[in-house]
Amino acid sequence: MTIHDLSGLRPAELAATLDARFETLDLASRLRLAAGIGRAVFTSSLGIEDQVITAAIGMERLDIEVATLETGRLFPETLALIDETEDRFGIEIRRHRPQESDVAGYVAQYGLNGFYESVEARHACCHVRKVAPLARALDGATVWVTGLRRSQSGNRAATPFVEYDAERGLFKVNPLADWSLDEIAAYVEKHAVPTNPLHRRGYPSIGCEPCTRAIKPGEPERAGRWWWENDEKRECGLHVPEAAASSLTSSSL
Ligand code: SF4
Repeated sequence: MTIHDLSGLRPAELAATLDARFETLDLASRLRLAAGIGRAVFTSSLGIEDQVITAAIGMERLDIEVATLETGRLFPETLALIDETEDRFGIEIRRHRPQESDVAGYVAQYGLNGFYESVEARHACCHVRKVAPLARALDGATVWVTGLRRSQSGNRAATPFVEYDAERGLFKVNPLADWSLDEIAAYVEKHAVPTNPLHRRGYPSIGCEPCTRAIKPGEPERAGRWWWENDEKRECGLHVPEAAASSLTSSSL
């Protein structure tokens, strides 16, 4: 099956058809089909699963743009990994940074680290440093590839392989939705994929430096993200509908 065989389908039908088809495909085949839909952008956090996708794109020379959100608050280890990954796979990782005026407005209203004070302030920071740059990264894209996995958290347990995001007007493709952390680790070892050294220091999920801590044995993978908040469904707004993300953060704009 190629994407051209499905060209008569409406977006939601195409997404459902691909979602069912992905079940039996390997990673490279999933990504190849995704790239066939239209201009595809993969947004990488440089986390271990995202490194797997970047490796597949690089090794298979797939026509998928790799981008990252350079928030200005990343760990030095993460910044070094961006450069290392570009060299390893001979690709460019596009850095999307927040607008300086947006950051200045946030700092004036909440303070540089105001995100510790309230959920509203945290969402506002994530909006300025992540959600708004993400919108720019996806501008003009038809396909958004992500490294979401069902086993990362209860909030992500129902992640499909492919869905049509009518609000953003693009296909969201999660080619690792059914992968376990063990499968990710095996791929990394087999292909000598560079990874963030923080993973070996107790950080399975790595975001901005002030908002990420190491987890304790037995804790969920994402327990170290915004750990001071009690909400089990805490996210940065990237993977919730755009209108919902905006309403969470509109007070900062
Ligand atoms: S993760 Fe923390 S520092 Fe990064 S954008 Fe969100 S609130 Fe701001």
